[in-house]
Amino acid sequence: MLRDGLQVWGSPDVLSWEAWLERQLDAAREQGLPIPRRLTPTEDWLMWQEAVHEACRGLDVLMPDGLIDPVRRAAELLDDYGLRLAGANNAEVSMFQRALRHYRQRCEELNVMARVSWRDLLPYLRPTAPLMLAGFAGIGPQRWRWLSDHGARLAPQLSGSGSAETIACSTPEEEAERAARWCASQLGREQVRLLVVVPRLAEQRHVWERAFSQQLNAALIFEGRDSSADSGFALEGGRPLASYRLVASALGVLALGAGAARFEQLSELLRSAYLGAFDRDACLQLDRALRDRGVRVATLSALRSLLPWVSAEVGERAATMLTQLLQALTSPDSSDATPVRWAQRWADQLEQCGWPGERTLSGDEQQVRQRFDELLGDFAAVTVPIRRLSAVEAYERLRLMAERVAFEPATDDVPVTLSARLEDPIVGYDGVWIAGLSADVWPPPARPDPLLPLPLQLGAGIDEASAEGQGARALQLQQRWQQTSPLCIFSWSHADEGTPGDGSPLLPPGSAPTDSSGAMLSLERWLSAQAPSLQIWADRTQPLQPPEGVLKGGTHLLELQSQCPFRAFAELRLHALPLESPQPGVSPRLRGMILHRALELFWRQMETQAALAAAAPSLRQQRARDSVTQAIGEALAREPGRFSESLMQREQARTVMLMEHLMKWELDRPVFRIDRVEVAQRHGFTGAALDLRLDRVDELEDGRLLVIDYKSGAAAPFDALALRPPQPQLPAYALAAGEDTAAVVTLYLGREGVKSRGLADRSGRIARLPAPKPDEPCWNERLQRWRQQLQSLVDEFLRGDAAIRPQPDACKFCHLHLLCRIDAAALAALDTDPDAVQGEDPEEEEVDE
Ligand code: SF4
Repeated sequence: MLRDGLQVWGSPDVLSWEAWLERQLDAAREQGLPIPRRLTPTEDWLMWQEAVHEACRGLDVLMPDGLIDPVRRAAELLDDYGLRLAGANNAEVSMFQRALRHYRQRCEELNVMARVSWRDLLPYLRPTAPLMLAGFAGIGPQRWRWLSDHGARLAPQLSGSGSAETIACSTPEEEAERAARWCASQLGREQVRLLVVVPRLAEQRHVWERAFSQQLNAALIFEGRDSSADSGFALEGGRPLASYRLVASALGVLALGAGAARFEQLSELLRSAYLGAFDRDACLQLDRALRDRGVRVATLSALRSLLPWVSAEVGERAATMLTQLLQALTSPDSSDATPVRWAQRWADQLEQCGWPGERTLSGDEQQVRQRFDELLGDFAAVTVPIRRLSAVEAYERLRLMAERVAFEPATDDVPVTLSARLEDPIVGYDGVWIAGLSADVWPPPARPDPLLPLPLQLGAGIDEASAEGQGARALQLQQRWQQTSPLCIFSWSHADEGTPGDGSPLLPPGSAPTDSSGAMLSLERWLSAQAPSLQIWADRTQPLQPPEGVLKGGTHLLELQSQCPFRAFAELRLHALPLESPQPGVSPRLRGMILHRALELFWRQMETQAALAAAAPSLRQQRARDSVTQAIGEALAREPGRFSESLMQREQARTVMLMEHLMKWELDRPVFRIDRVEVAQRHGFTGAALDLRLDRVDELEDGRLLVIDYKSGAAAPFDALALRPPQPQLPAYALAAGEDTAAVVTLYLGREGVKSRGLADRSGRIARLPAPKPDEPCWNERLQRWRQQLQSLVDEFLRGDAAIRPQPDACKFCHLHLLCRIDAAALAALDTDPDAVQGEDPEEEEVDE
C-alpha cells in the first residue's frame, strides 16, 4: 500500500483460526441459538490435566503433566485428519484413549463445550463473508475439505524468486554474529523488513539476543535505555512469564504464603527490589543471617520459631521486618477455596508485601505486570473442572500456568524479527536469514506422533510421520522463503555444542566454515579497546595502621595476598565476601571444627606415641569416640536443634574413621611426643603481627619440632620453592613454632587414609616427606627465604597493594570476577566452572577450621 502511494486504507479483517471460531460462536449466540459455554483456554488445560492424571493412574509415569500437550495435539490430529482409532495396540495409545474418553465425559457432565475439536462447533459455524486462508499449509484434509466446501480459498502467494546463498559458520555464536551484522548492513535502506529464523531460538536465545543487541542496539545501551520498545529487533514467542523477575517475586510471595517455598525463593524475596513494604537493609541482614546459620526451610512456622533468635542475634530491625512479613502472609482464612477466592487472597498478600515495589516500573515491567494480572484473572475465572483447592494446589496450578505462558514485552514496529518458526512467512520481507540448517536439523527427521499408531499416521499422509513427508515439506518451505524475499540466506554452523556437523544437503552450495572467531564483535573486547591507557599514580597515603599492631585474618590473609592482591584487599578490607549457601547436612566449616576439636581432645589425653602404641585398639577407638562425642556436643550446644540425631551419628562415625586412619599413620612414624595442640600464637612481622593458630606441634626424637596442620579432603601439592607461596600457612607455622622447627606438614585426612604434604630439614623425619635436595637451598636458608616472602606479603597488604595479579588457577575459585573486572578473554581461557571442586580428589571438599 505504501509503495502504491497510499496514506490510508481500510483495515483487513485478519483473524487467527481460534479467533474466527469465537466470532462465529458470538454470531450464533446473537441469533439466539442455545450454545453451551465453551471452556476457556485455562479450563481446557486443567481439564486435560485431570484427564491425563486419570489416564496415568496405576502407570509408572514420572511426570504426567508433561503428557498434557502431546495428548491434546494427538486429539487435534485425529479431528483434522478424520482418523479413527480402532483399538489400543500399545500402552501409549491406550493411555491416550483413556484420557480422551475422560475429557469428553467430563465435558458432558459439566455441560461445557470442549475446546479441543473444531468439529464440535460445526452446528454453529455459518461463514457469511468470503474466507481467504494464509499459512494453512499444515492443516489436515478433513478441515481443508470443510473450508473449501464453504468457499474458502488460499490467499494468492507471492511469486518472486529471490537469490539464495548458503553460509557456513564455525559456531552458533559466529552464525548469530554474522546474521546480526548482515541485518545491521541492510538497515541503512528505508522501510526495510527483515526476518531471521532460528529453529533453536529457545535454547540459544541469549546468544542471538546478545549478538543483535550489540549490533542493533549499541546506541541504546550506551544511552542507558533498557526497554524493548526502543529496540531495533523483536523476538517472537517470548519466554516463560514465570522467568521474569517481577513475576518470580510475586510467585515467591504466594509460595511462602502457601507453605510451598524453597529457601532459594525466600532468599530471593529478601533480596528482591519488588517488595516495597519491608525495610530493605533489614531484609538483606536477615538473608545473610539465615544463610550463615544454614537455614534451609522456608515455611511460615519455621520462620516464626526463628523470631527469638533473629531478635537476639540479628537485631530488632530484622525481627520487626520478619514479623511484618509473617503478618502479611498469615491469612486468617487458609481453608480450601475456589479459584476466584484464591485470586482475591493472593491480591491481598501481594498488596501487603508492597509488590511490585515503590519505584516506577519500566515500560517492559509494566507490561509484565499487566500480563501477570491477566493470568490471575484467568485463574479466577476458572469454574470447571476444579471447585475448591488447598493453598498448595492453588499455588502449584498458578505456577504451572505462569511457566506455560510465553511472554515478550511488545515492541514498536521494528524492522527485524527473530522467530523460531520454520513456517511459511506469509508476508513479504526485504531479506530472510534462516539459521541452524545443519544436516541433522534440515530436513527435520520424521517425528510421528507418539500417541497414535504409526500405520494410521502414514496412511493418512501426515507429513511429520515420515522422512519423505518431512523432506518434501522442507523443500516446499525453502521455495516459499525464496518467494517471499529478494534475498534469502541459509546458514549452518560446523560445531554445535562441540559436535562437528555438516550443512543440510537441501541447501544450495556455499562456503566452507571459516574460523572467524577473532573477527566477532564482543562488547567486552570493544570496551577494553576503548579503555584509555593507564597512568602511573603514586599512592602516597599512609600504609594501614592496624589497631594494636595486629592484622586480622591470620594465615588466610597471607594466602589471599599470595593468590591475588586484589582478592585480599576486596575480601579483608572491603568485606566483599560471597553469600553462604545453605547446604543439606553438616557444612564443611562445621565438619572441620568438629574434627579439629576431637583431635585436640584426643591428643591432650594421649600425649606420646608410646602411650598410643600401648593402648589396646579398643581403648584407642573408645577414646576417639569419646573425643568426637564431646566435640559434637559442644558444636550442638552452640546451635541447638540445628542437626538431626541421625545426621550427627553419621558425622561421628565419619570423624572416628578419619581418626583411626590417623592413628595408624602415627604408629608407623618415628618416635614423638606432643608438645602443643591448638595453640594460639602471635607472630610478629615488621609493621604488624598476625595471630596464628597451630593445630599441633610434636617434639621428635632429637628434640626438634614437627609442625602439623590438619585438613580433611583433597590433598593439594606444596611448592616450597614458589616465588609467591600458594600455601603460605605452612611457612608461617614453621616460623611461628620457633627456631627448633625441623619439619612442617599438612596431613590430609580422607576416606582412603592420610596423605602428607610439606617439607623437612632432612629425609626420614616422616616417610615420603621431602627434604631439600643437595643443589637446593638448605632448610635454614629455606626458612630465611620464607620469612622474607611472608614479610613482603604483609608489606603489600599494609601498603594496600590491590593489583590484579592472580596466581595460575586462582580465578577459577574466586567469586570476584565482576568486581575486579579481570579481562573476560583471560577468564574464559581458564574455563571457569563455579561448581568445580578444587584439588586432587574431586569427591571431597577441602576443609579447614
Ligand atoms: S577473579 Fe582472579 S583477578 Fe579477580 S580478584 Fe579473583 S583471583 Fe584476583
